[in-house]
Amino acid sequence: MAVVYYEQDADLSLLKGKKIAVMGYGSQGHAHAQNLRDSGCDVIVGLYEGSKSWDRVKADGLEVATVRDAARQADIIMMLMPDHTQKAVYDESVAPELRPGKTLMFAHGFNIHFGRITPPSDVDVSMIAPKGPGHILRDTYQEGIGIPALLAVHQDASGQAKQVALAYAKGLGCTRAGVLETTFKEETETDLFGEQAVLCGGISALVQAGFETLVEAGYQPELAYFEVLHELKLIVDLMYQGGIKYMRYSVSDTAEYGDYVSGPKIIDDRVRESMHQILQDIQSGRFAERWMRENDTGRQEFMKMREAALSHQIEQVGDQLRAMMPWLKRREIPTQSSS
Ligand code: NDP
Ligand code: MG
Ligand code: MG
Repeated sequence: MAVVYYEQDADLSLLKGKKIAVMGYGSQGHAHAQNLRDSGCDVIVGLYEGSKSWDRVKADGLEVATVRDAARQADIIMMLMPDHTQKAVYDESVAPELRPGKTLMFAHGFNIHFGRITPPSDVDVSMIAPKGPGHILRDTYQEGIGIPALLAVHQDASGQAKQVALAYAKGLGCTRAGVLETTFKEETETDLFGEQAVLCGGISALVQAGFETLVEAGYQPELAYFEVLHELKLIVDLMYQGGIKYMRYSVSDTAEYGDYVSGPKIIDDRVRESMHQILQDIQSGRFAERWMRENDTGRQEFMKMREAALSHQIEQVGDQLRAMMPWLKRREIPTQSSS
């Protein structure tokens, strides 16, 4: 079982007199910067010239500078720009400002684990990865609760890397919920596997295949949408609140019996074999290499796949049906962008 740290294991005074640069002000960045500030830390936000978030940082009462300037001033540097841009920003604006004794932090292990960023051996390198999006991290902090986080130390030059990372987690409010110890390798590989095999890739493909099966069999697309996509939320909410067992308790006995009989036919040995292959591609670095090459060469394949996915019938049917659901907090994607 994982080692878990709580409030009494973390000492905020380790951050006293230290300047923390939060690089990026997106989902994670705005929450890290504001939670740390409200915990009494000295925070500066690092952005690029022309960032649309520059004014927002100021409006939120925080200091803002370019990444290079912020890195120069900071003792602790938290990298919260998108993972595929971190290497370039690091090479250009962070690495030149690293000095012995500084701490470089991440909220996801991708760039360190796959060797895209190799910090000098005299800096601490650690990770605090909150297990939730930034707005939840911020809201729960203000409510006095907090969300769990993962902690990992890649490099401990000072002998204090873990304690400083724990203090950072305390400043975010995460030690109120619990901070689980892991490694950069484990966090990165399980995160990628989860999103590919289950959360994003697996579920999307399952929903689309279910939809296609019903529509090809002559059923109305609207009914197919309700049965395989819309109702997914009810099922996921039940699992989220009480596990798979609570979902099964809550649905009808007919649904539960059908679950036991048909689930294993869907997720059969062939699917499990594919999961192993996906995991191997992640572990070997093949996936990371492919994704970084895609970014370096203009993202054409990515854009093509995005376009094809957008034109699937399930999206048009969903648009029409969601327009009939005034209670939904409907979300639209902004017009096509390449980011
Ligand atoms: P976002 O895309 O929400 O935000 C990225 C921020 O970085 C934006 O403020 C953006 O500026 C800024 N930015 C972009 N390019 C640069 C640059 N060249 N220099 C400086 N700033 C730049 O990212 P997330 O918060 O989602 O992700 C940040 C990190 O946190 C990633 O490592 C991610 O894996 C990790 N993470 C994310 C979670 C999540 O739920 N989102 C959960 C846990 C970890 P602008 O505002 O102008 O666009
Ligand atoms: Mg992920
Ligand atoms: Mg039903």
